[in-house]
Amino acid sequence: MTIIDGKLISAQLKQELKAEVDKQIANGGKIPHLAAILVGDNGASETYVASKIRSCEEIGFKSSLVRRNSDISEAELLEIIKGLNEDEDVDGFIVQLPLPEQINVDKVIEAIDPKKDVDGFHPINIGRMAKGLPAYISATPFGVLELLKRYQIETSGKHCVVVGRSQIVGLPMSILMQRNTYPGNCTVSLVHSRTKNLAEITRQADILIAALGKPEFITADMVKDGVVVIDVGLTRVVDVSKKSGFALKGDVKFEEVAPKSSFITPVPGGVGLMTVAALMYNTLLAARKEVYA
Ligand code: NAP
Repeated sequence: MTIIDGKLISAQLKQELKAEVDKQIANGGKIPHLAAILVGDNGASETYVASKIRSCEEIGFKSSLVRRNSDISEAELLEIIKGLNEDEDVDGFIVQLPLPEQINVDKVIEAIDPKKDVDGFHPINIGRMAKGLPAYISATPFGVLELLKRYQIETSGKHCVVVGRSQIVGLPMSILMQRNTYPGNCTVSLVHSRTKNLAEITRQADILIAALGKPEFITADMVKDGVVVIDVGLTRVVDVSKKSGFALKGDVKFEEVAPKSSFITPVPGGVGLMTVAALMYNTLLAARKEVYA
C-alpha cells in the first residue's frame, strides 16, 4: 500500500511553477496576479484564502484580497467582480465559497469573465472541459488528476466510482475520468445521496473518489482489495485535544480502508494541498493566456 503524499507533490508542483515564473520575469514577462474575494468571517474560508495568498508569495505571484462583510448586497458583489474583470493587471480571480444566503452563487459565478475564472466554475469552462477544449479545470479535480499522474496510476479501462455529484468536485471529476486521455479512459459511476445500492457499487471500484463531505463514511466493507482511494472530503470535527479545537476528517475511514488499498490519500496531507497548487497552475495559464488566446 502506498500513501499518496499530497504535501510532497504539491511542493513539487509549486517549485516547478516558481521556476516558470522566475524565468518569465527574467525574460521581462508579467508577474502573474491572482485576486480573491472573501465575504464574511467563515473560519474555513479564511484559512483557505490565507493559504492561497501564502502560496502566491511562495511562488512569486502578486496577490490581492478584497474583503467584505457578510451583509454585502448581491449588486455590490457583482460590481466588485465587474471591476476585477476589467482590471488589466489581474490575470485571474476567485470568489471564495460559500457566500451568504442573500447572494445567488450561480449569478456570481456567471458574472466572472471565463478568461479569469481560474477556479474553473463558470459554465463556459465546465462546458469546454466536458468537450475536451482548452479550459480552466477546477482546482480540486485538477489536483486529483495530478496525483494520479505523478504516481503513474493506471486508469485506462478501470472502473472509477465517484461519490458525490457537486458542481465543483464530483461532477467535473466524473467527466474528467471518462475522457479519452490519461488520466482517464475509465468506466465511470457517479453515485450520490439517492443511490440505492451504494456499497455494492463502491465495492466494484478500481478507483474510488470520495467527495461527499461525510466524515469516515467509506468503511473497509465498502471497498475491494487493491482499490485506489482518493479522499477529497475535508470536514472540521470537534477535537478538544487540538489547540485549534478541531481536527480535519476525510470521507474515508483511513485506518481500516488503507490496508485494503493499493494507493490512498491521507487527510490532511492529500488532496487538500493539491487544490491550492492547482489554482496557482491555472493562474499561470491565465497570465500566459494559454487557455484563451
Ligand atoms: P457538496 O456540494 O455538499 O456535495 C456533496 C455530494 O455528496 C452531493 O452530491 C451529495 O448528494 C453527496 N452525498 C451526500 N451524502 C451522501 C451519502 N450519504 N451518500 C452518497 N452521497 C452523498 O460537497 P462538495 O463541495 O463536493 O465537497 C465534498 C467534500 O469535499 C467536503 O468534505 C468538502 O469540504 C471537500 N472538499 C475538499 C476540497 C479540497 O481541497 N480537498 C475542495 C472542495 C471540497 P446529493 O447531490 O444527492 O445531495
